[in-house]
Amino acid sequence: MRTETPPTVRLADYRPSDHLIDRVELDVRLDPRDTRVTATLALRPNPAGRADAPLVLDGDDLTLLGLALDGEVLAPEAYRADASGLTLPDCPQRAFTLRIETRLDPTANTKLMGLYRSSGVYCTQCEADGFRRITYFLDRPDVLSVYTTRIEADRESAPVLLGNGNPVEAGEIPGTGRHYAVWHDPLPKPAYLFALVGGRLDRVTKRFTTMEGRDVALAVYVEPGKADRAAYALDAVERSMIWDEQAFGRAYDLDVFNVVAVSDFNMGAMENKGLNIFNDKYVLASPETATDVDYAAIEAIIAHEYFHNWSGNRVTCRDWFQLCLKEGLTVFRDQEFSSDMRSRAVHRIGEVRTLRARQFPEDAGPLAHPVRPKQYAEINNFYTATVYEKGAEIVRMLRTLIGEAAFRAGMDRYFADNDGRAATVEDFLKAFEAVTGRDLTRFAEWYECPGTPRVAVSGHYDAAARTYRLDFRQTRPGAGADAPPLIIPISLGLVGPDGPLDQATSDRVEDGVFVLDAAEDSLTFTNVAAEPVPSLFRGFSAPVRVEISLDDAARLTLLRHDPDSFNRWEAAQRIATGLITAQVRGTTTEAAGAERFVAALGAFLDAEALRDPAFAAQVLALPSEGDIADEIGQAIDPDAIFRARRDLRRRLGAGLRDRLLTLRETLAEPAGAAFSPDAASAGRRALRNAALDLIAAADPAAGIALAQEQIAAATNMTDRLAALSTLALLPGTARETALAAFAERYASEPLVLDKWFAIQATIPEDGTIERIRQLREHPAFAMTNPNRVRALIGSFSLANPTQFNRLDGAGYDLVAETILALDGTNPQVAARLMTAFGPWRRLEAERRSLAEAALRRIAATPSLSRDVTDIGTRSLAG
Ligand SMILES: [Zn+2]
Repeated sequence: MRTETPPTVRLADYRPSDHLIDRVELDVRLDPRDTRVTATLALRPNPAGRADAPLVLDGDDLTLLGLALDGEVLAPEAYRADASGLTLPDCPQRAFTLRIETRLDPTANTKLMGLYRSSGVYCTQCEADGFRRITYFLDRPDVLSVYTTRIEADRESAPVLLGNGNPVEAGEIPGTGRHYAVWHDPLPKPAYLFALVGGRLDRVTKRFTTMEGRDVALAVYVEPGKADRAAYALDAVERSMIWDEQAFGRAYDLDVFNVVAVSDFNMGAMENKGLNIFNDKYVLASPETATDVDYAAIEAIIAHEYFHNWSGNRVTCRDWFQLCLKEGLTVFRDQEFSSDMRSRAVHRIGEVRTLRARQFPEDAGPLAHPVRPKQYAEINNFYTATVYEKGAEIVRMLRTLIGEAAFRAGMDRYFADNDGRAATVEDFLKAFEAVTGRDLTRFAEWYECPGTPRVAVSGHYDAAARTYRLDFRQTRPGAGADAPPLIIPISLGLVGPDGPLDQATSDRVEDGVFVLDAAEDSLTFTNVAAEPVPSLFRGFSAPVRVEISLDDAARLTLLRHDPDSFNRWEAAQRIATGLITAQVRGTTTEAAGAERFVAALGAFLDAEALRDPAFAAQVLALPSEGDIADEIGQAIDPDAIFRARRDLRRRLGAGLRDRLLTLRETLAEPAGAAFSPDAASAGRRALRNAALDLIAAADPAAGIALAQEQIAAATNMTDRLAALSTLALLPGTARETALAAFAERYASEPLVLDKWFAIQATIPEDGTIERIRQLREHPAFAMTNPNRVRALIGSFSLANPTQFNRLDGAGYDLVAETILALDGTNPQVAARLMTAFGPWRRLEAERRSLAEAALRRIAATPSLSRDVTDIGTRSLAG
């Protein structure tokens, strides 16, 4: 690496701040190029810090204009200041105030961290360390302060001025065309939760009364003219508030709650206190522009950010190593919310699909890290599937282990003990130890170990004794022989040829859960009338890989009779995975297995498709190419996987054709029916569209005709986009005509054009790279907008395995050149793109060396950002 390796921050080195900031008064005079920020900080030595320590404030890209201590301008020799920090070597060892004036250029801020402008709207993003780009500060989550913010701006271009907390004052500045607003947030918070917004925005509003009787004004702010697309998000805010009161006893604590949608945003959304700022993709929705998947994502992310008000804001993190404390817990909370709003079984399948698609590969590659990392070079690279999704799975396992009632009591205790504090994972577990009397020390190991554990299971039936024994053995990848075994909750049961074997019992299974806490263990069921099929890890009760040799007949028994919906879906997935991997490995010799699977799915559809279309759609959706690659694990050949998966889709489409056509007829909405994004309606659309996909796989001509018909008749984006996606896989003029018509229809809708970019980026054909190069020149594409980059380049790298991993290296080249082009302006998004190279070592030899060469080329480029350097270093290490 030519670039200097970034310094490493270690959890073991944590020590409290030497100073605290009790109060912050900010005066922000907004201007597109010359914003002035005056920060008045009430500082004092931290009793828990070092005595006589100098004051060292963080900064990033700052210009200092003035500095005064207790009202006295400081002489230049009394401090050292540069763009990246401000030090007072001999600061007073008592309480004092520091007044700091800085100058910012929000228009030039392309990193989208700190204060920036997005389509003319001033907004901020301060997590993880963006506040230091606004003023010099103790920019760390364990320094909590009470903020008062005065925002001033031109009235014409920024009539709306929003801050954290409650509004206290607003007015004109006579004769200047400017106005101001003052906001006060009474609850102490770390700087990463600071936010302000100034701009021309429309809004929708609602009032909500909390269970404590507080009257709260809710508002969702959007770009002018788009208020009619904000209603669903506003409704989701209200439902989230009600749910958190009912499920966790948590009420909202300010007089206003504002959500603002902006078009240029690095992440999904941000939970700033009382002022959530969102990527507009996760707010704006209308039937014409948003799919069912978009509606569900908006509901989930609105809920997620709102739930942070308690799990993240009221109780925050001591340091960034504890990120999972707020993220894993809050993902768990939003998953529970969505499960209550929708079908729990179908939602659980979606959660596990996401975990396997994103977290399992991460955990098996060079970027693997514990849910609570022990060190980092760039914290922005740790907003990962491991911290979020695996973090949520740990909370879920905890609930399974101790039960619902104890879990709720533990959560109450956690909030009560840590309200207003910056907490740690240990504080979290301590609350559950207090209410259950259990020692969770060994369970805590889940936070410390990277890699996906494996659990090997074998079953042994004794017909004479009518007993069934299950032997379990757990292993952890890369862990030494002395690594302690994990505590793994295994929700399980036995299924016989005619249904669940409820009369079979084991004294080691309590409420359907066996806890595996040793490296090896066994349990025996008695009163087992017939040889059973074990149904293990029901509801995906632990984030592990399960190794068990079950034949397809046994799996079909689970698909038919398992009372656990997740495991029914899993049974179909495992059969499909087996069929596809057998073909990839060249070990398949007969088509009978595939035909039996087709017949079983046919019977399943006959019995259940109309009863639960959403679940049926999940059962019909084959494992993705990424799932198969993850299963194969080494010497991965994406082309072979693609072909094998395509062949199975064709078989399903041909074998189920008549049923699928009938289902499409039966599930069609009656003409003139109003669109509703509810789960049941979305489920019917999902099954119709899954049917279309399979029919087209087997019979392209029929697929084209049906897709064209569907586009012509579509009354919503879900159906229109599904048909376009089907066409996208079928080369020819029908596809190109449909793509052109779609682009014309939505020429002024950037978020919809993102879908159009993504569909084309994922076409698994040789011409796709040239197509992407042309799309980069499209007037709607902009490298400065993260959503556009993710739609075109991110989709290509993550969801087009055959083209990204081309044998001529052109796919790697395209992504590498994008990373380098982006790194100077937006390193966070560049680094995120680079994670697509994560699984490179698991590829077959030729692709592996091409991918490595691309990674080394990026890493050897001079003046790389810390973000990209960090991903490069870790990807190539070892
Ligand atoms: Zn979050």
